[in-house]
Amino acid sequence: MIDNYFIADQFSLLSKLMDIHGENSFRSKSYAIAAFNIEKLPVQLVTLPEDKISGLKGIGDSTGKKIIDIIHQGKLAALEDLVSKTPEGVIEMLSIKGLGPKKINTIWKEMQVESLGELLYACQENRLLLYKGFGAKTQQNVMESIEFYFRNKGSFLYAEIESYALGIHNELIKSFPGQWLGLTGSFRRQNEIINEVEWISAIPETSISDFLKNHGIVQTALDDESHIYRGAENIPLKFSFTTPEKFHLQLFNTSCSPEFLDAWQKKYPVKVTISEEEIFAHQQVNFIPPFLREDPAIIDKAFASPLPDVIQTGDIKAIIHSHSNWSDGVNTIDEMAKACIEKGFEYLVISDHSKSAFYANGLQEDRIREQHKLIDELNIRYAPFKIFKSIESDILNDGSLDYPDHILSTFDLVIASVHSNLKMTEEKAMTRLLKAIENPYTTILGHMTGRLLLSRNGYPVNTGIIIDACREHGVVIELNAHPRRLDLDWHFIPEAIRKGVTISIDPDAHSIDGYNDIRYGVLAAQKGMLTKENNLSSYSLQQFEKFLLSKRK
Ligand SMILES: [Zn+2]
Ligand SMILES: [Zn+2]
Repeated sequence: MIDNYFIADQFSLLSKLMDIHGENSFRSKSYAIAAFNIEKLPVQLVTLPEDKISGLKGIGDSTGKKIIDIIHQGKLAALEDLVSKTPEGVIEMLSIKGLGPKKINTIWKEMQVESLGELLYACQENRLLLYKGFGAKTQQNVMESIEFYFRNKGSFLYAEIESYALGIHNELIKSFPGQWLGLTGSFRRQNEIINEVEWISAIPETSISDFLKNHGIVQTALDDESHIYRGAENIPLKFSFTTPEKFHLQLFNTSCSPEFLDAWQKKYPVKVTISEEEIFAHQQVNFIPPFLREDPAIIDKAFASPLPDVIQTGDIKAIIHSHSNWSDGVNTIDEMAKACIEKGFEYLVISDHSKSAFYANGLQEDRIREQHKLIDELNIRYAPFKIFKSIESDILNDGSLDYPDHILSTFDLVIASVHSNLKMTEEKAMTRLLKAIENPYTTILGHMTGRLLLSRNGYPVNTGIIIDACREHGVVIELNAHPRRLDLDWHFIPEAIRKGVTISIDPDAHSIDGYNDIRYGVLAAQKGMLTKENNLSSYSLQQFEKFLLSKRK
């Protein structure tokens, strides 16, 4: 029903959208005042004669006419028009605490950010600070309220919920020693996006409920087999209950993709088992770990031969792709290098932004020369540890890199990435990427599609053709390990390996803490069956130098 609240909301949104679009502020203000007054009216507008509406407190002729339109048509044409001209993500920004229409206007029009995920990423890269009206505190608040908003929307990055899920799991294990309890579902399969954290439990439901209640986590839904609980974080925690005898079978059943489980059950029906390993051994199929239980095609592969030893976090020997405070990173190169040495990495690739990335303080030619001098000095100090001179060169609109050849030739390696004009047709995106791959100075293709998980689709890319081109030109494809990117998507890793293209798990670190993101790159890479032999950042220093040398030829 069209009540005063509904009508007031229409005017309030109209006013905000006008401000976001930078339209006449006098009119937008008058709609905001109308909204305020309509909410406070003692009578419902629908019950009034139409000629009495204009003239009510704070309602002029033009607003009055609009109210009558809303009553007749159930909508406000001027608002619909503005909504259709505004990206959905920009409208969503209105639900973020601390963001008013003026700030949203800056974010959209000046920063060219059109969704909350992009905005969150921009905050993490410290980009808001470069714009008028945004301080460190605002940036922090915006970041926190976007995270809150996402938590409430029902999908989460694996990295966002990992420590929460494991924290609860470890507490449960401590409280119920020797009892059967297992994390399962998409979390156990290491999926990059998680909708709920799932457990299989042979611990009685009352014990679990009591335990969770003591931790401020309450039941919000239940069906025959499972209960869903939520704490303050609002992440659904799903517990399915079973008996100790059925535990392992249930654990298996819940840690496969639906397609995988279906295929397995048709081939090898299981009634009972004492362990997951036994399910496979019984059929003479090599063990398929949960993270590989996606595409049923793996079943025949595992029948024919053991699956390869996939890469582990410990197999990463270097930080490739990192930003220092010379562009948009937080730490000095010295600090980044020291942290690498402490963590046992053999070398570090500093790849600050190139000059076209002005928003990220990209490096002009003279600063490149200065930076290289500093790196030479640090390399003397920290030998045998080595810092490599690199750049994350923007791939410009026409596919060329951001510097002339005589500058490009001063780097040890070049990471080429697209950062601007992300809205492209496939034809445009492919022309741009292929030209960059053909450039003899390109060593690594950075975050191939530009996607940001849960917030921005990448530009359309024919991945098969890109992989072919990378093979032809000896270009490595990055698996950007930032948990919001994970780009190249792991589904394409087997094809890249089959075609002889090397992958590089790179943290794209903007601070020392960013090194930890490697873990998420590795988890995704495992799903694509990447081995350390096929991963550039697993090369020893010696192997890496040899690789650079051969690339130069
Ligand atoms: Zn980048
Ligand atoms: Zn980067």
